[in-house]
Amino acid sequence: MEEPRAEAPAVERFVSDRPVSDRPVSAELARDLAERRAADPATVARVWHHGFAADAVSGGHACTYDDRLLILDATGAVTVVADPGTRETRLAVVQEHWEAAQAASLPARLAALDETSRLAVACRAAGVRTVLELPADPSSGVRRGTSLTEDERIAVDSCLAYLRFHSGARTALDAVRALEGQARRGHRTALAIHACGSCGYPALGEGPWGRTVCEVCAERTICAHDRAVRVLARRSDSLAAGHADDGTACEVTATTRTARVGDVAVTLSTYEGDVVVEVAEA
Ligand SMILES: [Zn+2]
Ligand SMILES: [Zn+2]
Repeated sequence: MEEPRAEAPAVERFVSDRPVSDRPVSAELARDLAERRAADPATVARVWHHGFAADAVSGGHACTYDDRLLILDATGAVTVVADPGTRETRLAVVQEHWEAAQAASLPARLAALDETSRLAVACRAAGVRTVLELPADPSSGVRRGTSLTEDERIAVDSCLAYLRFHSGARTALDAVRALEGQARRGHRTALAIHACGSCGYPALGEGPWGRTVCEVCAERTICAHDRAVRVLARRSDSLAAGHADDGTACEVTATTRTARVGDVAVTLSTYEGDVVVEVAEA
């Protein structure tokens, strides 16, 4: 156990908003800057924060020297604070610095996206399932979802489907980072969608999957006994169905592979271990 410090180190904070060097930002530049400032260059050591180093927009590189921690931002700005002393506390300081830089960069990152992506990000942050429910936000230049053309609406909802089902992003910043990452890798940022045949909200799939109900309706299947029924795919591709209230098996559902969602008749099938709920053909 370390002795608790008699007194907290004075918070020295040196911040240069302008790039301190003409050289490109790199771990080597951070080390050189630390060596230049150090009374004892032998004390210079890299503080390796993987996420910070990998973020080319809001990240950077950190080094300790003497009793200081130097953080070089991707913008070339430098921050120097008192060295908090341990690997964990240094990483915590870098993490906090990184999160603040990411939050500060959000407006510029949003502005760099196309309008479709920007609207999809706003939808994800607002927690809505379609851009039609997005309220206008004049302060950020977001226009009302209902003012979009049908093609624009589909493009935004397709991008939103990617954010909802493939990215795990829940905040605007996470959503922006997910879209930036996909674009950098040349991957698509939209999923095929159609209108759910039961509720009308966007549902995943097109072509042969154009009859599937949305993920919310898929959880609302009602059996021939007018009871909520939960359906699982067995490894053999057969179905297991049970009443939601008491867990008793519903052989009718498992055998006929039919149910309903609201007033809409649906068929149940399996695909790669999942249950597919589709609006029944008329
Ligand atoms: Zn639905
Ligand atoms: Zn039943």
